[in-house]
Amino acid sequence: MPQRRHPARLVASALLLVCGLGTGMLAQSTGNKAVGPSASAGGRQADDPDFARSVREWTTKPEFSSPLVDHLPKGGAVPSPKDVLGHHIGEPKKLTYYADILKYYRALAAASPRVKVISIGKSNEGRDLVVVFVGGDESIKNLETYRGYLAQLADPRKITDAQAKEIVAKAKPIYHLSGGLHSGEVGPSEMLMELAYRVAVEDSPLIKKIRDNVIVSITPVADPDGRDRNVDWYYKYGINETEGRTTGAGVPYWGKYIFHDDNRDINYSQVEMRALLDWYLQWHPPIMHDLHQAQTLLYTFSGQAPQNPNLDPILYGELPMMANFEMAQMAKYGMPGVWTHGYVDMWSPGYLAFMSSNHNGMIRMYEIQGTSGANTTRLRLGNPNGPGNGGPAVPATGPSTGSGRAGGPGTPAPDAAAITAGRSNQAQRDWFRPWPATGEFDWSLRNNTNYGETGVLTALQYTAAFPDVILSNFYQKSRNSIEAGKTDAVAGFLIPAGQRDMTRVERLVNLLRMQGIEVGRANAEVKLKEGTFPAGSYVIKRDQPYGRLAKNLLEKQTYPDPVTRTYDDASWTMGMMSQAEVKEIGDKAVLDLAVTPLTADVKLAGTVSGSGSLFAVAHYGSNNMITLRYRLKDLKVQAAEKEFKQGDVTFPAGSFVVNGDAAKVRQAVEALGLTAVGLPSAPDVPMHDLDLPRLAVYSTWGSTQDVGWVRFAFDKFEVPYDLIYKDRVREGNLKGAYDVIVIPHQGGSAKRLVFDVDSRGTAISYKKSEQFKNLGMYGESDDITGGMGVEGVAEFDKFAKAGGVLVTLGTSSFFPAEFGLTPKVDAARTSAAFYSPGAIIDAEILQPDNPIFYGYDKKIIPVRYGNGPLLTVQTNTNPFEPPPATPPPTPPGVLMRYPGGDDHVLSGLMRGANEIRNRPAIVDQPSGKGRVIMFAGNPCYRWQNFGEFNMLFNTLLNFNDIKIAPATPATSTSAAR
Ligand SMILES: [Zn+2]
Repeated sequence: MPQRRHPARLVASALLLVCGLGTGMLAQSTGNKAVGPSASAGGRQADDPDFARSVREWTTKPEFSSPLVDHLPKGGAVPSPKDVLGHHIGEPKKLTYYADILKYYRALAAASPRVKVISIGKSNEGRDLVVVFVGGDESIKNLETYRGYLAQLADPRKITDAQAKEIVAKAKPIYHLSGGLHSGEVGPSEMLMELAYRVAVEDSPLIKKIRDNVIVSITPVADPDGRDRNVDWYYKYGINETEGRTTGAGVPYWGKYIFHDDNRDINYSQVEMRALLDWYLQWHPPIMHDLHQAQTLLYTFSGQAPQNPNLDPILYGELPMMANFEMAQMAKYGMPGVWTHGYVDMWSPGYLAFMSSNHNGMIRMYEIQGTSGANTTRLRLGNPNGPGNGGPAVPATGPSTGSGRAGGPGTPAPDAAAITAGRSNQAQRDWFRPWPATGEFDWSLRNNTNYGETGVLTALQYTAAFPDVILSNFYQKSRNSIEAGKTDAVAGFLIPAGQRDMTRVERLVNLLRMQGIEVGRANAEVKLKEGTFPAGSYVIKRDQPYGRLAKNLLEKQTYPDPVTRTYDDASWTMGMMSQAEVKEIGDKAVLDLAVTPLTADVKLAGTVSGSGSLFAVAHYGSNNMITLRYRLKDLKVQAAEKEFKQGDVTFPAGSFVVNGDAAKVRQAVEALGLTAVGLPSAPDVPMHDLDLPRLAVYSTWGSTQDVGWVRFAFDKFEVPYDLIYKDRVREGNLKGAYDVIVIPHQGGSAKRLVFDVDSRGTAISYKKSEQFKNLGMYGESDDITGGMGVEGVAEFDKFAKAGGVLVTLGTSSFFPAEFGLTPKVDAARTSAAFYSPGAIIDAEILQPDNPIFYGYDKKIIPVRYGNGPLLTVQTNTNPFEPPPATPPPTPPGVLMRYPGGDDHVLSGLMRGANEIRNRPAIVDQPSGKGRVIMFAGNPCYRWQNFGEFNMLFNTLLNFNDIKIAPATPATSTSAAR
């Protein structure tokens, strides 16, 4: 990109040096807005009077601005946002589309040597993903040199402490800012354009020091697809909203698949998140600061409890230090409502900016008071029972169960919904909120800009004041991570070679590598205190820069304080989630094992032995089995119902027997890492055809995110389906079109699933048009309100009775129970005392011969549990008969159950674990000619519980061959494991 220096800017810069007067300096020294920088002093950089006037007009009260942002220098040929966009940032009723945001940054970079834009990938819908660098001329010119310094500090194995000191003296911290991760939170992506311009052109001492000592990098919009859809929706509906007359629905989709979960995407499944991670590992910014908008008026994260003890104590000192600096500075500027603590905790490593803390840097986060789109809205604070943002925000259903949080219209803003218990009244003074905002006032987009930009400039001021501290801390944390690996009780992890299904091991190892964790393969058989493992086993030594991250991801999560709640999941143990064996190694000898480092992703080659045109493909539980079936959709594929042997390979029940086109079979099996053997003749066991179902996935309009995760998994594993909504369901004749309909976890309750987005008498359409090209994607409707209604319920009932298979996941399993599709099944909720933010617990397979469990070789398997229904299957439907004297056996149709109790919690936290004791986990109920299969948990949770996906996939592949399960004799499950 051509970069031209602009004479006008140089002149302004020179004048400033002579005068030594800076706008920020003036203002800071007085704290008096009346003596703000717009009071022009002779000879200093000229400000844009139009900007100052506009911002004064758009700022609803003087105290909602600061001396840092109430002026904007003229940049000469360096374009201000208004020069490109036609308006100043924060103008009411103006939001910027992503293409225009990019256009601005590119124009800025073209005109200023202090700005550089690099591409880091493409979004799901093909938009350019970029990172914008802003800094001094010299910094941007020598960006590669500075990148090199940070890379050296990030891996202290290659340098001495003395060398580190020298590097720290030369290096500059990269401070990364990110907006628009949650695309309904529109303000920060506007603000960042002005910030970039200001850092590039303003010559106040404050900004000059930032430019000299810090390199600012920016993700303008982390989810650009969602941004554009939200801006469309705003211009279609939001802009016309007034108090008491709101649209009543948000846009049904943000990104292609997910809403807020792009900030919970622990395995970086979405391309936008992955691109940022890849960029991170190239550039190592010691600070990543994610800008959200949900809290009143600005919340600055400081890492409250529960804290993840794997992270460095230095970090826990740094976080409140910066947050407190911001709080004090903004109070000094006269800005109320800035607070810290009391909101998000430091437990889960799955938030996007957590990639920084995971890699020895620092995650930072704001929640800035938002508006309704770009409309100025009335806030009412100070009344705990009031309707405004000061009222209690903890929803009745209980916050932060992770899986219970749904995005979409008709649901409360998830960020607001997840406020930790007892900390909800933001108009109340507390030790961490010394000056709350109170009363009633208007709040504008420009207020949001002022708060966000003042906060960020203050954080940059801090960083510019102590760059050496930030950098040496970054180095020390990296060094400590390596040293901890040599002294801690856990010295490493070993993932044995030769596991039954290596495809899940392959994914696990590649996910670790993706995060920069070094993995090696043992050159020879390994003998450690923990056992003997075959050559080729995967070894993760903890004495590496990201050794603490490896521990965090692979160990069992021991929740530090069961009284505290957490904002997201309490557990994520990767081996359990994948149902793959991962050994924690205490034997320090692991650090000296001879290994061959992996330099590329593991690519498992499947094996095909024997010849002919009849093959057996072993079902060891790989999720790739369903992909194989679809890749061989034109061939005859059967499932063996019993185990059989061919040569020295044992084929468990569920293994495929494939007939025809040897070359095609070989190619697919090899590419998918599976095991196949040629058969001389069909095995002498019962088999059934694996017919491919005509498959639909049902989605509400109001809660599309968890449906999105199922869509994502189906797309990744190449499972074709129709995505259907209420209009299709009401049309009827579902059985004529589909064999299986999956209703993913969504909505939180059966009523919500059925009645969905509240109808307020006016149709709300979601359709593409010439003006709104981003709407009508992934489905369309003339009216997204009202839900399927009871007509829809009747159609689902008809579908099953006509022979269809209805599969419900998680909270959607309330639906068949409560609306009478499964009359013998009741669904209850856990008590208010129960709390399970995504614990990993035991589940007991009761019907191992059922095709749903093909590929599972253990009776007890680890599964994730959030807040699914407590199911009961009645054994006696006559309420007038007395209950049987002896406890009944597990009723027919219960395929899997939760043993329950604390002993069966494997990782994370479940408070009240007795409540789920012996509750069904999977229920299969006949309905006319068809059936309803209900999962109490969510077997397709985010891109995470890979070990459970196979149960859902088996259900699809064997949809017309699942026989009704007999009753299971009563057993003592506590002895089962
Ligand atoms: Zn957010």
